[in-house]
Amino acid sequence: MSKETVARALRQARSALILSHLNPDGDAVGSALGLMWALRQRGALARVVLADPVPPNLLFLPGAEEVERQVPPEGADIVVVLDSSSPDHVGEPFAEATARSNLVVNIDHHPTNGAFGDVNWIAPAYPAVAQMIYHLLPSLGVQPDEATATCLLTGLVTDTNGFSTPTTDSNLLRDAAELMDAGAPLPDIIQQAYLNRSLTQVRLWAQALQTLQWEDGIVWAVNTPEMRRAVGASERDSSDLSTFLLTIREARIAASFTLLDDGRVKVSLRAKPGYNVAEVAAQLGGGGHPPAAGATLDMPLEQAVQTVISALKAQVAATTPHAQLQLS
Ligand code: 5GP
Ligand code: MN
Repeated sequence: MSKETVARALRQARSALILSHLNPDGDAVGSALGLMWALRQRGALARVVLADPVPPNLLFLPGAEEVERQVPPEGADIVVVLDSSSPDHVGEPFAEATARSNLVVNIDHHPTNGAFGDVNWIAPAYPAVAQMIYHLLPSLGVQPDEATATCLLTGLVTDTNGFSTPTTDSNLLRDAAELMDAGAPLPDIIQQAYLNRSLTQVRLWAQALQTLQWEDGIVWAVNTPEMRRAVGASERDSSDLSTFLLTIREARIAASFTLLDDGRVKVSLRAKPGYNVAEVAAQLGGGGHPPAAGATLDMPLEQAVQTVISALKAQVAATTPHAQLQLS
């Protein structure tokens, strides 16, 4: 099944509930709201339901204030699940929404997606689900307006880490330019969605960076509930730390370990071009993309660090010199 099957299902729906993943990021919220505006332009009823709140850096998105936390009792013709590799990734709204609709449409770019929908379009070559939504618009007969364009361009910016991932190609930049022509303010989106973090988050980084370690091209740091309490931070405030660690010149792979309040360990992995952390995450029961992946481990922190770092060392050792050349 494919893009056209998905487009047909979207065209036929008079109402849609749009879902995305827990701890939503710019691609989750941007693609969901972009699709919401596009379906509304067609005259359909469309609503976005997310298990977790829209983070502060994405509240500028048109429609962010309309995002709901609970599935409405009346349900909808279809449920559209975006950017989520499994129903677990969506959280509670999945079961409630699918019980109140006739069809599940699954649109995703995670290679680990289990094709859990009735209709699926899984395209790992796409850097962002927001770009997949943009490519659906012609089949929906929709020209993006300013709101749609702003939401979709935000997904492109955030999932490509500010147009810096190896998946950023000239086609993506052409799409970004078209979205700008449709009214999306790129510099403003980058400032709001991307170059915008709280003082609390950086204070947590300051704590975590006290634990910084570097071995064999792998950089890592740990944060604990005590550190978060000391600065008034939440688990979510640790989310970008691995991305920041990867900016270290000596890093080929970066990992951040968050000891969660429930005792499990969330591991967040990032890799320079040529390295693949999705394989390591999958070995650990998680998933993601080659340059950005993660897993949650049910083991003591020390054991989690040892397990992950030795798997990452094996990954670096197994990576061919040709791939490593790109790092220089
Ligand atoms: P992050 O490190 O920002 O939490 O996640 C990076 C990427 O890995 C995202 O695409 C995210 O969906 C994926 N990911 C993170 N943790 C998990 C996990 O536990 N399971 C799966 N399947 N994917 C994950
Ligand atoms: Mn995504």
